[in-house]
Amino acid sequence: MDARALGTHGRQVDELISLGLPTVAGVTVPVAEVASLTEPDTAGAVVELLQQLSGRTAGHGERPMLIRLTASAPVAVAGLPPDLPVIGLTPRNSAAVLDAVGDGSVLHEVWAGMLRMIGEHALGVPSARLGDLLLDLADPREQVPALLTALAHEGTEPFPDDTARQLALAARTMLARWETPRAARARRAQKLPPDLPLALHVQALVLGPWQDSGYGTATSRDAETGRFRPTGSFFRGVRRSAPRPPHAEDLSALPGGPGLLEHALLTLEQHFAGPASVEFELRDGELALLSARVEASTSARVTTCLAVDLVRSGARDEPAAVEQVRPSDVVELMHAQLSLTGEERELVRGLPASPGAACGEVVFTSDVAVQRAAEGHRVVLVAAETTPADVPGLLAAAGVVTTNGGLASHAAVVARGAGVPAVCGASALRINRTGDTTTATAGEHVLREGDLVSLDGRTGAVYAGELAITAARPPEQLNIVLGWADTLRRLGVRANADTGRDARTAVELGAEGIGLCRTEHQFLGERLPLIRRVILATDPETEGRALAALARAQREDFRDLLLGIGSRPVTVRLLDAPMHEFLPAPDQAEDEAAAVRAAALREANPMLGVRGVRLALLHERLYPAQAEALFSAWLDVRDQGVTPELEVMIPLVSLPAELETAARQVRASADAVAERSGVDIPYRLGAMVETPRAAVMAGELSRTAEFLSFGTNDLTQLTYGFCRDDVERRILARYQATGLLSASPFVELDTAGVGGLIEIAVRQARAVRPGIKLGICGEHGGNPASIAFCDRLGLDYVSCSPAGVPVARLAAAHAVSAT
Ligand code: PEP
Ligand code: MG
Repeated sequence: MDARALGTHGRQVDELISLGLPTVAGVTVPVAEVASLTEPDTAGAVVELLQQLSGRTAGHGERPMLIRLTASAPVAVAGLPPDLPVIGLTPRNSAAVLDAVGDGSVLHEVWAGMLRMIGEHALGVPSARLGDLLLDLADPREQVPALLTALAHEGTEPFPDDTARQLALAARTMLARWETPRAARARRAQKLPPDLPLALHVQALVLGPWQDSGYGTATSRDAETGRFRPTGSFFRGVRRSAPRPPHAEDLSALPGGPGLLEHALLTLEQHFAGPASVEFELRDGELALLSARVEASTSARVTTCLAVDLVRSGARDEPAAVEQVRPSDVVELMHAQLSLTGEERELVRGLPASPGAACGEVVFTSDVAVQRAAEGHRVVLVAAETTPADVPGLLAAAGVVTTNGGLASHAAVVARGAGVPAVCGASALRINRTGDTTTATAGEHVLREGDLVSLDGRTGAVYAGELAITAARPPEQLNIVLGWADTLRRLGVRANADTGRDARTAVELGAEGIGLCRTEHQFLGERLPLIRRVILATDPETEGRALAALARAQREDFRDLLLGIGSRPVTVRLLDAPMHEFLPAPDQAEDEAAAVRAAALREANPMLGVRGVRLALLHERLYPAQAEALFSAWLDVRDQGVTPELEVMIPLVSLPAELETAARQVRASADAVAERSGVDIPYRLGAMVETPRAAVMAGELSRTAEFLSFGTNDLTQLTYGFCRDDVERRILARYQATGLLSASPFVELDTAGVGGLIEIAVRQARAVRPGIKLGICGEHGGNPASIAFCDRLGLDYVSCSPAGVPVARLAAAHAVSAT
């Protein structure tokens, strides 16, 4: 029979018995029969049965059997009648019971509570009368005789001594209590039918000495370590749900020690395939279980350690263990967290742009961030938004907060790539500059340079002051689960990595290659002028000199990158610099001519201007210089025994002819290097699909492209016409609040719209070039739902930030099991 007949408790007890676990001797009266328990004859038969089960006798023996009556419904419900815990206790046997139990005051308190409830609901004594009586007499030892007298004089019948008749009255009490208007209202409030039935559970209460007996709750796992260790609370004495329970001790106080619970909890963990918790009783050293359930909310550490233990014990297989761990568990385990107490002052909440926690002194510029960090300070960079010029400060900072920009904005992308916690688009924070002084205000709170703040990149919250941080300590079990995930997934997992350091981190975290190296990210800090000079050059000689310097720097960077990733695939994207990110501010230009040229190049909408391949067509020697640097670097590392699989990628193409032109430039460079070195460098040439036109022309592009990578940040921006920097906070937050969108399309791929374009592109590309390599390198490459979509389309790989690689490995395995 199931919970509909037996109530949730009856079903659980059945389950415990079928597992061979010890339970309290008892009888469940099913839903359909509960009314019969109000009959003394039926109650008598139940008492008889209980005596046989428990080996004790009700009545007046030395250690008489008492009975507890509890109720449960077919579903979990708040507001069940409290237990009636000492049925069978009488003035005649109370001395023997007290002898056995050893603590009189608690027993009398429980007894008085039970008499009051039966008096009110089964014997018709007004509740107020019984309440007054209890208020007048503080000592439970005096309350019990007074209650018995009141019931005898004012009730419909005296409270009986006979256990079976007490049980029948107790059953009437439970059912009447369940029918009170208040109880029915409570069921309605829980959206449960007002006529929800009850099952009743009659349990033998075997009495034992106070010091050695009691009851409690235990869970199977230590939340801190994730390891199997019974933890919980133990209460001495007779179990009761009301009045207030006595002082709780931890399980080390359990007579016999917590080891008593190990067998039961291990059995249950394996049965549930989840962390188990039980309610138990202990009498005379004997354990009995009252209920068991799976712990619903549990820590990432517990989930991960348990998943591995279940495989090791043979209870589950590896795919089931991988399924059990959630992507959010991986994020939780891989990143530091703020230890919140609820007392902290939240200043502002922005977008959760890069996970992890950080505390530090507020700085308002990249230069100050670099300087203070070099002096050994932990800093949080607070800025309206960031540009490539700010990257050194961003990398030196413990955390970043921007007031503008979305989840695919420059600050968000760079911070995620570097593993720096970040909150973006915190628009309620206002940055004020007056003369040389900068402050930021959040409501009344003013932040000055040097003030301490803390941020949580998973929730987007920024707090005043320095909060405690719990460092990330992923358990070794996480690596084991991810290793199993690797054997299950179809999708490859690569990282978006721009430097040797990023590449090494990515490999450590399990990346199989680089899916996107944004070469413009190599021109940071002191190197920024190298790219500026190319963009601002007005004559071929100046441009030539600038390009030579740029190529020298890139060769060094590529060498480091290639050594970092080793003999794995690496997709290097040639320059895709939105102009505004690289043009100097008027007061930062090298000279007057540069300032004038920069002003002339400024665009009204840089995201739609001179970017990607367009830049290469305007500066025809730019891509050849980059390609030559890359091929030369490949030769350099080959001499050290490293042979990365080069993939040269052309960004932001829309016209097949744009791609062909850029491809000719790259091939010419490869030929030049081959002629010089005598080595034909193996490489593939491909295109990014970032514009809707590129998606619908993917077939044509694939005549030239040997691979395609979906740049879904720009593809989303251009498909919706949503600026990736501006809309997130102002528009998408509102769209989500009002239900127009369920998630930001910059976070979770819009499978219907943007995904529809990708599907067209995949179909066309495969028709023209069967077996063409296809990947995704927008921020969606790290998002589990988007990864599932990529798996359904049969893409070859996803590419995401190095820190996102473990999540992507797991999500890619989940995607397989979902199909
Ligand atoms: C993209 O547009 O998805 C992409 C990866 O390129 P970026 O973010 O550098 O524009
Ligand atoms: Mg792009």
